[in-house]
Amino acid sequence: MEKYLVDSHIHVTMLPYEGLQAMAEGGIKKVITCSIVLAAQHAESYFDYFRLITGFYRKNAASLGIQLYSAIGVHPAGIPHDWTRVVNALPDFLKTDGVVGLGEVGMNQGSQLEQDVLKAQLEIARDHRVPIIVHIPFENRLPITDLTLSIAGQVGIPPHLLVIDHANLDIIEQINQFGAIPAITVRSRNVTPEVLSDNIDRFAHGMLNSDFSNLFPNDPTGVIKAFHRLKNLGIDQEIIDNLTRKRAESVFQI
Ligand SMILES: [Zn+2]
Repeated sequence: MEKYLVDSHIHVTMLPYEGLQAMAEGGIKKVITCSIVLAAQHAESYFDYFRLITGFYRKNAASLGIQLYSAIGVHPAGIPHDWTRVVNALPDFLKTDGVVGLGEVGMNQGSQLEQDVLKAQLEIARDHRVPIIVHIPFENRLPITDLTLSIAGQVGIPPHLLVIDHANLDIIEQINQFGAIPAITVRSRNVTPEVLSDNIDRFAHGMLNSDFSNLFPNDPTGVIKAFHRLKNLGIDQEIIDNLTRKRAESVFQI
C-alpha cells in the first residue's frame, strides 16, 4: 500500500490554498482540522464555523485528494458568553459526517472560566467516547499541564481518548505517565525536526501535526519535513509510521 502521511491538527480556515497544495504534494492524504473562533462572542459563531469546516472546506480539500476531518469545540482564544449553548450542541454536531472528536480545547491562563469550559468538554468526550485534543499554551506550560491532567483525572476520561497537544521535552514525561497521547507540533516555536529526531525515544508514543494558523510563523509542511528527516536518519520505520500516520488513524478512527 502506498505510504501517505496524516497531519493531526491544523486550522483549515487560516490555511492558504497553496498550503493545502503543498501538503497534498508532500504526501499528506488525511488532515484533522481543529475548531477556533478567535474572540468569539456568540455561540452562533461556533455553529457557523462547524458547518464551514465540515462542509465547504471538506469538499475543497477533497478536490486536492485530501480527506479533511474535523474536531469541534470551544477554543480558549474565543469563549463566547453563552458557551454552554455550544457545549450542549456538541453531541449533535458529533453526528456530522467527518467529525472525529473534540478540539481544540484547553486553557491559556487557567482561569475559573477556562477550567469550567474545559471540564464540560472533557465530560462530553468521556460520555460520547470520542477523542479530545487539549492544547498546552506557550506560557505557564507546567502549571497548565498539571491543572489540565488533574481536571482530566477528576472527569475520569479514559487516557486513550485524551490527546495533549503541543507536547515538548518539558511536559512529555507527564503526558506519558498519565497515559494520554502526546501530539507534537512541528515548527520553530515548538518541536523542530531536529529536536524530534534527537529525542525520538521520548516522542515515539506521539503523533505529529503542523497546527497551521496565521497567528505566528507556521509551516504547513512541518509533518512532511519531519518525516523525511526521520527517514534519512534511518529511524525505525514502525516509529515513523506511528508518528506520521498510524497513531492518528487509530485514535481518531480515520
Ligand atoms: Zn491549534
